[in-house]
Amino acid sequence: MVTAIRMSDVNEMGLDDVLSTAPPALPAEEAAALALELFGAEGTATAVGSERDQTFVLGGPRPAVMKISNEAEDPARLDMEARAAFHALAADPGLAVATPWAALRTDPSRGPAAYRASIPSATGGVHQVRMYARMPGTASVDESTLSDAAVSAWGETAARLGRALRGFFDPGASRAVFWDPQHALALRPLVSAVADHRMRALIERTLDRYEAVVVPGWSTLRHQVIHGDLCADNMLVDDDGVITGIIDFGDMSFTALVVDLAAVIESLVSGRSGDEVLRVARMAMDGFERVLPLEPGERAILGELVAARSCAASILPSWRSSMYEDPEAFAAQYHEDAFELLKLFDEMGFEDVARRLGGREPGTMVAFDDLVGRRANVLGSALTGLSYAQPLHIVRGEGPWLFDHEDRRYLDAYNNVPVVGHCHPRVTGAIARQARVLNTNMRYLHATVLDLAERLVATTEGELDTVMFVNSGSEANDLAWRIAIAATGNSGGLCTAYAYHGVSETTTWLSPEAWSKGARPDHVETWRPPDAYRGLHMDPSEFPSAIARLAERGHAPAVAILDGVLTSDGILDLDPEYVTACVDALHRAGGLWIADEVQGGHGRTGDAMWSYQRLGIAPDFVTIGKPMGNGHPVAAVITRSDIVDRFAETTDYFSTFGGNPVSTAAASAVLDVIEDERLLNNAREVGTYLLARLLEVKADHPIIGDVRGMGLACGVEIVTDPASKQPDAGAAERIINGLRQHGVLVGTTGAADNTLKVRPPLVFGRAEADLLVETLRDVLTGG
Ligand code: PMP
Repeated sequence: MVTAIRMSDVNEMGLDDVLSTAPPALPAEEAAALALELFGAEGTATAVGSERDQTFVLGGPRPAVMKISNEAEDPARLDMEARAAFHALAADPGLAVATPWAALRTDPSRGPAAYRASIPSATGGVHQVRMYARMPGTASVDESTLSDAAVSAWGETAARLGRALRGFFDPGASRAVFWDPQHALALRPLVSAVADHRMRALIERTLDRYEAVVVPGWSTLRHQVIHGDLCADNMLVDDDGVITGIIDFGDMSFTALVVDLAAVIESLVSGRSGDEVLRVARMAMDGFERVLPLEPGERAILGELVAARSCAASILPSWRSSMYEDPEAFAAQYHEDAFELLKLFDEMGFEDVARRLGGREPGTMVAFDDLVGRRANVLGSALTGLSYAQPLHIVRGEGPWLFDHEDRRYLDAYNNVPVVGHCHPRVTGAIARQARVLNTNMRYLHATVLDLAERLVATTEGELDTVMFVNSGSEANDLAWRIAIAATGNSGGLCTAYAYHGVSETTTWLSPEAWSKGARPDHVETWRPPDAYRGLHMDPSEFPSAIARLAERGHAPAVAILDGVLTSDGILDLDPEYVTACVDALHRAGGLWIADEVQGGHGRTGDAMWSYQRLGIAPDFVTIGKPMGNGHPVAAVITRSDIVDRFAETTDYFSTFGGNPVSTAAASAVLDVIEDERLLNNAREVGTYLLARLLEVKADHPIIGDVRGMGLACGVEIVTDPASKQPDAGAAERIINGLRQHGVLVGTTGAADNTLKVRPPLVFGRAEADLLVETLRDVLTGG
């Protein structure tokens, strides 16, 4: 049953009373006479539909549009419209905004008031008359026939207009406009005016959802004065459907910026159904985001905003229908589209609408239980296993913290890649900004990559002068190997006994950690790094003997490769003299030294940018990756031009993604943050503190055989007992799983897999170190 609504109820809501006052109804001849008298516009007047005022098109020599305002209209609001139109045009001259003409015989010192003239109304009030230049294009567009390009262009126009109005303010913009979702809940008392009970129920549910989801976060949305009703009724378009005129600023208000996008979408999806509605919405969003990227909070509620406008589109005509000659027809024309949209969103569920509009954090809307099976099914059996007995589903990261799908927080003491902390805004911002502007390759000139290369060269303070960009640590080592082969004419490689240097064929041969049983390459020899804890392999002849064994098999060394913090070998602290002797021996044998900084680089040791620098050696190659982009794939080889020249004689080199502008922007931002946040200092200080605190734990727990570390690369070796020093991989695994259950993430490493690998982002502070240590204590004491 339709309930009568008293006008006083409506006015109490503070909604715009223009909508409760019938628009003026001047005859066309009278309008034509007024046009001539007030604005000097000649021609016949033809009335066109309008909701709040009366509008005539004037077909004279200077085509124009005349608006006679509702007598309830406040002239100050009309002045605001005029100011806004001129403001928008000044800010973005390419915008097709209709601007008003100055009235004849007006005083320009009246400011915006010079753009209107007043006439008496039939009831003793006043109508304001305004004249606009007629914009090109047609007003009667069927939105459902618009091309994708036009849809996207509408979104783009909405954003441009929003951007152009950003600096605009007028006290009159603080008003309650019926269409503005900001006032959606004020519509509740009017819902009873809707005749169709199914529609009423849909509207009620939509408003309930709105109240629960949108209202609480409303004040966090970007606000400004916006157009307020960017729908087909207020636009002119050309034959391609592209907007040629924005012709009515009558619904402007100070509200959320994203409301104009919601209005565009609500208009564009009318006459469309099913998946097409969301596809078109996404196309319009793309256009908007070409100019103004949405904030996550805006994107998340876009569906609700579009639906709120559909509610208004349904309620308003129902309520106002009594003012029109054929109320049912008037109401029905609005209802149909609104009904279809609300029904679609209701059936789909607003969560799903948000997901399909990209409004949910990536990866959050999936069933956790399915993931392990799906991973096994589709990613194959060769992929490394999941960490921890109870796998983690991580959906978000921030600083040294990771968050799972239930928003449980984990201290990340494992991942060295996010060296400046997970999702650092400087890095994500640099990636996003560059990605929005350009991403190409090294066949074009681009300054970002050159700046980065020069900066990297400067960090080496030696003879290294050439940087070659690739996409992963493996590729960097692979390339270094190829260059070394060409430069030395040799064919052999040397690496530590349990090293890992990459996933490509070449680097797998340099990665004993990855060799399957018995698959020992002929051209690679290993050497055992000194184990100070057990007093093993301390003999400086280990490395030269490896060279000799290689020679016996007919290979002179092309390279020796060393991770300066020996991550895979168990995180070992090397003696500079020892390593210097190895480098000398290699050079004497004709080989080149690769300092693999994929693990120890970017300040991890706290002593220097690169871990080789603390060893006092001068490598021939420095390979970098992992932390270089803080998670974005980017890597490089830093070497000497004389070495590369010999490689260049036999081949040339190009990597499609290597050195692309987005990756290099990320890598530069990482270097900036390392400097600005003084992360080397932090790694040194917190690393020293952490080591001392871990030694305290060791004193109480004999299961810890050794604690060692350099900056924020620490190894905690787990043994069966201090006397035998027997590695205890089982206990190490239990410990890391216990830590995981207590919200701290570490891994294991070493040939016996019995060393806890503590390798956190360098933003790790003392508080985090304390938490790690206390949690380790709890786990060791069985807590
Ligand atoms: N070198 C070292 C020392 C590494 O630890 C790794 C990766 N763990 C690599 C190279 C290979 O890097 P990526 O996985 O980026 O190819």
